[in-house]
Amino acid sequence: MTQGEREKVCPNCGTALREFQKSGLLGCAQCYHVFEEEVLKVVRRVQGKTRHVEKRESAEEIKEQLYLKRKVLQDRFREALNEEKETEAIELETEIEQLDSTLEGKKQSPSEEKKERFDREDVT
Ligand SMILES: [Zn+2]
Repeated sequence: MTQGEREKVCPNCGTALREFQKSGLLGCAQCYHVFEEEVLKVVRRVQGKTRHVEKRESAEEIKEQLYLKRKVLQDRFREALNEEKETEAIELETEIEQLDSTLEGKKQSPSEEKKERFDREDVT
C-alpha cells in the first residue's frame, strides 16, 4: 500500500483517480469516499458547463454526477448527525434538498426514474 500523493486508487474496485478524472465515472460506492474531493470538483465543473452548452447527452451526465454528489452529501449528513454537528447537518440537509429540486426539475419524462441505476444508454 504505497498510496503516495501522486495517485489515489480505490481499494475496492481499483479505479484510479486519473481514470475517474478522464471518464468522470466511478467504479463503486467506495469510490465516492476515496475521491470525494474530486467528485465534488467534477460536479461543480459539469454544472458550470451546462449554462453554456445544452446537449442532451451532457444533461444525462450531469444528472449522474448530481446523484453522486447527493450520495456524498448524504453520507456526510449522516456523519454530522452522528457527531451531533447540528449546524453542519442543517447545511448539508439544505444542500441535499436543493439537489433534490434540481434533479426533479431535470426530469423530462416519467420513465426517467428507471435510470436511477446510473445506466448509460449509448445511442449509436
Ligand atoms: Zn471503487
